[in-house]
Amino acid sequence: MTIRSLLIANRGEIAVRIIKAAKALGIRTVQIYSAADVDMLAVKLADEAVEVGPPAARKSYLNIEAVVAAAKAAGVDAVHPGYGFLSENANFADAVEAAGLTFIGPKGDAIRLLGDKVAAREVAARAGVPTVPGSAGRIDGLEEATAVAERTGYPVMIKAAAGGGGRGIRVANNRADLERHFPQASAEALAAFGDGGLYLEKVITRARHVEVQILGDGENFIHCYERECSLQRRRQKVWEEAPSFLLPQDAREKLCASAVALAREVSYRGAGTVEYLYDDETGEFYFIEVNTRIQVEHPVTEMITGIDLVAEMIRIAGGAKLSIAQERVKIAGHAVECRINVEDPVRGFLPTPGRIDRLVVPAGEGVRFDTMLYEGYAIPPFYDSLVGKLIVHAENRDACLDRLARALADLTIVGPPTTVGLHQALAGDPAVKGGAFHTRFLEQWLETEFAGETGRTAEVA
Ligand code: ADP
Ligand code: ADP
Ligand code: MG
Repeated sequence: MTIRSLLIANRGEIAVRIIKAAKALGIRTVQIYSAADVDMLAVKLADEAVEVGPPAARKSYLNIEAVVAAAKAAGVDAVHPGYGFLSENANFADAVEAAGLTFIGPKGDAIRLLGDKVAAREVAARAGVPTVPGSAGRIDGLEEATAVAERTGYPVMIKAAAGGGGRGIRVANNRADLERHFPQASAEALAAFGDGGLYLEKVITRARHVEVQILGDGENFIHCYERECSLQRRRQKVWEEAPSFLLPQDAREKLCASAVALAREVSYRGAGTVEYLYDDETGEFYFIEVNTRIQVEHPVTEMITGIDLVAEMIRIAGGAKLSIAQERVKIAGHAVECRINVEDPVRGFLPTPGRIDRLVVPAGEGVRFDTMLYEGYAIPPFYDSLVGKLIVHAENRDACLDRLARALADLTIVGPPTTVGLHQALAGDPAVKGGAFHTRFLEQWLETEFAGETGRTAEVA
């Protein structure tokens, strides 16, 4: 069944991105919006738009009944969930299919299995993919937690089985920490994710976050190489690259092959990401989780491979076989993405939604700016602060960082404070140029280099 029309069950920059892919495929688009989002760019760009509820996401973008009803009323063939919101909600995928529509992503059961981070660890182990040393399954109580921690050694991470978006993770440096955090973590996970299930992982210190893009049609599975996402704050990515700089070729091959093995293990259908921690010193890598959706940082992969990942996931959902053979996926050059948020880095990353008075978007060869912004747009305060992504591509990493510095200088957003200045400082930083970073690098850099430069502490909030 070819998809002729689709509903975008999301907002912001990813809604705009999905509309672009749909238009290129000749697909009619229907955009949902909350009462706070009447003015958003995707509403203007889509062929049709329907309001689904009040500003609170719980009552609009997270309201399964309302979103499915909007899709049925609009008469679309399919629903694209984007990232965040309902994108990894198995019940939503089931509800879309039960309404006779196509969910653009894996089947509900696959989302359920891989979205449970404990079950996903078991899948990885079955596929022969190394996982982080930790608990065999969910942990029943403090006694079991301490036993696991004694075995793996401290520090350990207490993680929520249903966690995501960098939330639901705590570090315990010793037994006293574990005794203090464990009971709280369970209650918090239950409140945040509706599932109090916890598991334990050893903390892999000075590791890089390296993830592999996968595509599957249920029978054929390929990878589109890796992304380097070590520059994080509060366990959320801030800056991403492809490929991972300084990753030895044999490690790259092993990582990518293991991601494909995992995809095959679950007969994966759609686009997905297998996330790993990679230890530079030992060359060991460890599976951490699978994201069964398009990711924020997908453009860096598109830039180095020339593959339109959103178009590909729409085609696969429409029943097409993978249109790309593994041998045809080649890495060309280097790409970097900077997440532009309306947040003030010198005031503890305080969210700063507001009106865009002036916007100058960088352009030129190898420069892409995915955004929801336009001049005069008033960013509503209710949602994620990500408002754009500057993606730059060049023949190698040095050239890419030079081009990035120029593009950042051209990018002018007058109105609310943004993270553009932070990215300028990062793009010119010798340690970032050297590329030898790890998942704690950015937080340490913010406390030292950035605080020194701005004369303000970056962590007041
Ligand atoms: P990516 O790997 O694509 O960067 P993230 O984990 O940063 O993915 O999540 C992408 C978006 O989805 C972010 O806006 C994040 O806040 C949101 N998100 C991810 N998981 C959850 C979740 N379980 N609950 C709420 N929001 C989430
Ligand atoms: P989420 O579902 O919230 O994205 P992840 O399990 O992917 O959670 O972890 C988010 C980030 O937390 C990782 O990118 C990494 O920086 C850090 N992290 C996760 N697990 C570990 C670990 N075992 N050791 C060290 N850092 C970790
Ligand atoms: Mg993750």
